[in-house]
Amino acid sequence: MQRKLTLSLIIVTLIVAIFSISVKITEDKNNKRLVQEYTYSIKEVRNINTTIAPPTAKAIDYHNKRVNLWILNLVMSLLIPVVFLISGLSTFTRDYCLSKSKNLFIVIFLYFIIYSTITTLINLPLDYYSSFTLKHDFGLSNQSFNKWLIDNLKSFIIYTLVGACFVSIPYLLIKKFPNYWWFNLGFLLIPVIAFVTFISPMYIDPIFNKYEKIQNTKLESKIYEELDKASIKNCNVYQVNKSVDTKEMNAYMTGVLNTKRIVLWDTTIKNLTERETLGVLAHEMGHYLMGHVWKSIVLGGIVSIFIFYLVDKSSMWVIKNSSGALGFTKLYDIASLPLLILMLNIFMFMAQPAINTYTRYTETEADRFELELTKDNESSASSMIKLHETSLVLPSPGIIYKLWNYDHPTFEERVKFANSYKPWEQGKPLKYSKYIK
Ligand SMILES: [Zn+2]
Repeated sequence: MQRKLTLSLIIVTLIVAIFSISVKITEDKNNKRLVQEYTYSIKEVRNINTTIAPPTAKAIDYHNKRVNLWILNLVMSLLIPVVFLISGLSTFTRDYCLSKSKNLFIVIFLYFIIYSTITTLINLPLDYYSSFTLKHDFGLSNQSFNKWLIDNLKSFIIYTLVGACFVSIPYLLIKKFPNYWWFNLGFLLIPVIAFVTFISPMYIDPIFNKYEKIQNTKLESKIYEELDKASIKNCNVYQVNKSVDTKEMNAYMTGVLNTKRIVLWDTTIKNLTERETLGVLAHEMGHYLMGHVWKSIVLGGIVSIFIFYLVDKSSMWVIKNSSGALGFTKLYDIASLPLLILMLNIFMFMAQPAINTYTRYTETEADRFELELTKDNESSASSMIKLHETSLVLPSPGIIYKLWNYDHPTFEERVKFANSYKPWEQGKPLKYSKYIK
């Protein structure tokens, strides 16, 4: 390999090592602070718990394991494509696919299936540990091994086939427009993300779990009253039987146009009071009213253009400096896929803190709308506490982990906000009064 490439590989390795050590140091410090001096409490309101307890040893242990897994996954996301490139496995796979067909679409299709299968198999032990063993060890999962296996098999088949069909599009663009494929691809991605957001609630999500109308009819009518108060029409509310998979709770708003829906995990309905559930739903309505789904689709496209540009420039630099040592000299050669994935992973990783900062902002605004709609601070705080404590979430993590992993504000920030945001008590105007009847 050429000198410049070897040098950059060493630099990236060093950066990842320093980054990992910094994460561990900041987490250790934060854990000590939480255990020794954590206090956040507010007076008990009508027997509802709005106070965060210091984290248990179990929660700290779980958090540490998740941090280790995150670092390990980061290393694997860089290591696997690098090994593909420098071991010659990528060119070997390309040559094998070329020996099976002369049709370029089929060659790319086959290559992707082989690449996806190998990486899935390499990652399998880590995936099994993080999504099955670990969750069972900490009592967070209800999932049987069979369900885990079948769900994973289904998603592997769906994503590999869809990926194999679509991966020829960037290659076609790279060949046709070598100088600005990154712009075309990012631009094309906007309708694609919109389409996926549109169809996945109807066709993808039900492959894994059962969606149905809210079973508790009293709760259902309260929900439609709340939707009416927020002037939201044509929005369906569903419950999904996530209790077969997990003990954790969640709710989310998804879809666009006539597929828009609010989905409540059945675990949420079971564990929260009616007032708490209505608070959680008000938060989801806030996302809808402020157009967060649409905005994230458009922003996703814009960020993609920027990232693809960097992927193009950096990949071309690698190809130029490799002088053919990687077994390909053109970016449109399918053997470059691990290189594109490597660069994509690097720049996605670098963009993550900015993306998370934006989503944390939208989450705070949805929390604000929730409080303005319900004016029920106690229920918002107590539901937040139940949601986080059952999932063993720490009140706040270390700073680096937060920047890269928190797309919501921390548990502590959200409970504090829920306990303190009451502009109506001081006669101040509401920020979102225009959405409330
Ligand atoms: Zn939210």
